[in-house]
Amino acid sequence: METILELRDIHKSYENKEVLKGVSLEVKKGEIISVLGPSGCGKSTMLNIIAGILNINEGKVILNGEEVTTSKKITPIEKRDLNMVFQDFALWPHMSAKDNILYGLKLKKSDSKVMEEKLNKMVNLLHLNGLMEQYPSELSGGQQQRVAIARALIMSPSIILLDEPLCNLDVQLRIEMRTEMAQIFKELQTTVFHVTHDPSEAFAMADRIVVMNQGKIDQIATPQECYQRPATAVVAGLLGAGNHINAKKVNLKDDRALVQVGNDSINCLNFSNSDDVVLYFRAEDCKFSEEKGANSIPVEVIMPTFEGGTYRVKAKTATNEEITFLHDHNILKNSKGYLNISSDKIYAYDQVKN
Ligand code: ADP
Repeated sequence: METILELRDIHKSYENKEVLKGVSLEVKKGEIISVLGPSGCGKSTMLNIIAGILNINEGKVILNGEEVTTSKKITPIEKRDLNMVFQDFALWPHMSAKDNILYGLKLKKSDSKVMEEKLNKMVNLLHLNGLMEQYPSELSGGQQQRVAIARALIMSPSIILLDEPLCNLDVQLRIEMRTEMAQIFKELQTTVFHVTHDPSEAFAMADRIVVMNQGKIDQIATPQECYQRPATAVVAGLLGAGNHINAKKVNLKDDRALVQVGNDSINCLNFSNSDDVVLYFRAEDCKFSEEKGANSIPVEVIMPTFEGGTYRVKAKTATNEEITFLHDHNILKNSKGYLNISSDKIYAYDQVKN
């Protein structure tokens, strides 16, 4: 499939601090890529480099086969075949929704009949009927978001850049909008480069997720692959594996490691190179039982909390490390039992030595 955008070994420093440390990736035509990472990992820097707002120290940005950014030259945003949707929507407050959407086409002096047709298509696609004469201040957050997306889509750019596009909407609207956006982008076969710190937004929208950590890419894979086989401890933590306990690797076979936690051993998916490992797993992947299971470690309950439907139970391992698991009924404090965890839902990474 045709490559629309390529980042080749991008390095970017602010003063003496390197914030992108050799980032490479490709975006194919029609693909939705979500860049996910904690605050400060370099997502906005990357987006602004692609947009042509920031320069770089090393590497290349190639858009439609053309080098648009190198350490020596930078093609400005208005000369790039892309459009950006900003966090705060950035609509012109003194223009109606219609004029906002048509702004780019008017600048290009497009034919008025063509503009009318394109506008009607956007109005129908984004459910903006009856809102075209309203000003941004008269529109809800969700409606402003739709106008901002329509304004970008109407230009039919090679790629759309989305910078945390849903973070100013309330939770329910965010859930609705992310599904709707993904649906529209797929329908129009739009290529999208989307930046977010919210894993559920990346899961819902992306064909592939790029997980960033401190200026580097830790993993590029489908949402399912990232969730089921997080390549690093940072990816695992970001994607919900909130439990971590220390262990010692005692055996390795294919992609599985047998590790020891105190006097007990458990099988897990191995992503480590050394023998001192940290095991990461999700609260929802543990099954508590009074009986020892096939792949289990002993625990003692510290505190159950009712969450409506389930109990979130804080417990400690035999090595005195705190973990959390979910259970469908209440368990008494100080109860002893075992946590069963399927070997493909517990991941071993190298311990970070200070
Ligand atoms: P993210 O979008 O993932 O939150 P950013 O790309 O905004 O991350 O920032 C990456 C790092 O670069 C952070 O440590 C941030 O403090 C730093 N940074 C961003 N912009 C500037 C700037 N203009 N000058 C100096 N440091 C900056």
